Amino acid sequence: MRKAERAEYIARRLDELYPDPPIPLDHTDSFTLLVAVLLSAQCTDERVNQVTPALFKLAKTPKKMAQQTIDDVREIIKPCGLSPQKSKAIVQLSKIIVEQHRGNVPDNFDDLEALPGVGHKTASVVMAQAFGVPAFPVDTHIHRLAQRWGLTSGKNVKQTEKDLKKIFDVNDWNRLHLQIIYYGREHCTARGCDGTVCEICTTCYPKRRRPKLTIKA
Ligand code: SF4
Repeated sequence: MRKAERAEYIARRLDELYPDPPIPLDHTDSFTLLVAVLLSAQCTDERVNQVTPALFKLAKTPKKMAQQTIDDVREIIKPCGLSPQKSKAIVQLSKIIVEQHRGNVPDNFDDLEALPGVGHKTASVVMAQAFGVPAFPVDTHIHRLAQRWGLTSGKNVKQTEKDLKKIFDVNDWNRLHLQIIYYGREHCTARGCDGTVCEICTTCYPKRRRPKLTIKA
């Protein structure tokens, strides 16, 4: 199967499995989504969703969060890990949003990525899921599956993002990245497969006999 045929088949199969993939992080607006995505670094979405109700009870707007102490925020978010860095970033980015963006989460990559604790992947998630702008955030699951499906070399996440944006329709990016994440969690886990088991790989690579090794993100 050629790469374009694999991509077309995979997109169709994922649409059958996850026709309307929900956003995994609980949030009510772009600010609570931004904070939740920031908290999800090296942490599961489940854990973030357990922690954010208490955090957003304390403060759920940039203005209110900017008034909090880093210690108070850190106390609440400790279960998410990296709490000293994450709490500092949450309070500081809230201050910047109030002072430089009239209290509104910026709806462009440059200003988002200029915020403390916000990298390209976090900015891409917010642009896609809060503002509906096509983006293809690449996390560990997407980086791994794209390699197993022969859609990228896996050199690095930047290259994976570039390759996926090239092979898939721009109108499908926001839905596809969620679908791939769900497939990665439910079927295509890091240790769980060598690339010869389920329908996706056996359809894309019917002759594959040896395990498909992948490069980590
Ligand atoms: S065969 Fe394995 S590696 Fe390939 S898509 Fe299925 S679960 Fe993932």
